[in-house]
Amino acid sequence: MKAPPTTGRAERRQTPGEAPGTTAATRIERWVRPEIRALGAYPVPDATGLVKLDAMENPWFWPRELRGHLGERLAAEPLNRYPDPHADALREILRERMGVPAGSGLLLGNGSDEIIQMLALLLGGPGRTILSLEPGFVMYRMISLFAGSRYLGLDLTPERFDIDLEALLDAIERERPALVFLACPNNPTGNLFAPAAVEAVLRAAPGVVVVDEAYSPFTDRSLLPRLPEFPNLLLMRTFSKMGLAGLRLGWIAGAPEWIAELDKVRLPYNINRLTQTAAHLALEHLDLFAQQTRAIREQRGRLFQALSRRPGLRVWPSEANFLLFRAPDGPGLFTRLRDHGVLLKNLHGAHPLLRDCLRVTVGTPEENQTFMRALDLCLSGAESSLNTL
Ligand code: PMP
Repeated sequence: MKAPPTTGRAERRQTPGEAPGTTAATRIERWVRPEIRALGAYPVPDATGLVKLDAMENPWFWPRELRGHLGERLAAEPLNRYPDPHADALREILRERMGVPAGSGLLLGNGSDEIIQMLALLLGGPGRTILSLEPGFVMYRMISLFAGSRYLGLDLTPERFDIDLEALLDAIERERPALVFLACPNNPTGNLFAPAAVEAVLRAAPGVVVVDEAYSPFTDRSLLPRLPEFPNLLLMRTFSKMGLAGLRLGWIAGAPEWIAELDKVRLPYNINRLTQTAAHLALEHLDLFAQQTRAIREQRGRLFQALSRRPGLRVWPSEANFLLFRAPDGPGLFTRLRDHGVLLKNLHGAHPLLRDCLRVTVGTPEENQTFMRALDLCLSGAESSLNTL
């Protein structure tokens, strides 16, 4: 292979530390911030051939009656052109179908992950604190660190996973966080926090409080109708859990002044044409997705009962589309389940309160039965759960 030409001038500019042959590793050590070097990239396990109950996805594919429309609409999209930068048509139908209060601002993200990133860019940074509750959604901590902010994770109460209000109000007073994240329901614990505690946080926080309602399709409680009451509340949701994780679409609503600030750090054209079009169609037929989420809620109840009956297991009630449970030797059980073809999320080691805990996403009735059969095999090797779900 011919070596690329080098100019004399480029050679002269090299300092001894940057001599040709310096490895990427040396340069990474010198230039990548230590807190990023210490992290690993977000792990996504290979689920090929496994019953996938690890990522809180809706187990059903796009409703059959809509697939033809979807194909036609997507085929008609001029993909040679950039999408509508503000996704006005999509935001309009979203406001109406989701009941975003009149007068609130609304912004879309490439998944709510991207919105968390925008929030951290806007409000975080060196000298700023971002606060959340743990065990909680890991991206609050990761993205806070990406943005160079200080992250403070306050523990939830053991066993009930509720807000320790006194400790939280103390931390807010002491640390003056620019941004507080509260996931309601919380991931990975599945519970809703006491409404009075959430309100107390909203009243005490000096900056913004983001209430993350990613799991709203699976609970009846929401702060959305009360959004206009709180000038520092931003309410975030996602299309991922209602059945459209593949689209990558999240949204956040709140005082228009806040949304206008957030819009400044949004990348242009962040919602692609295919997502805008598919999400619009989904919102026109929200009832079909609601049928799916109703079925998941019903299955959640059955799965909860089935897990509660297994001796030695501790399962927590959930308002989301997953269940957290503790088993003797959780990590061992996780591996044995995977060997039996069922992929869960192993949370042992993620936080001290999650010792021996696994998280199972509610799947189709068949997937849930497969899971329970595999679980029984792993736990005792004898009992069959076929008729107990
Ligand atoms: N918030 C919470 C609480 C979550 O659990 C998740 C995903 N697991 C997200 C936000 C991110 O969702 P998405 O980026 O798919 O919208």
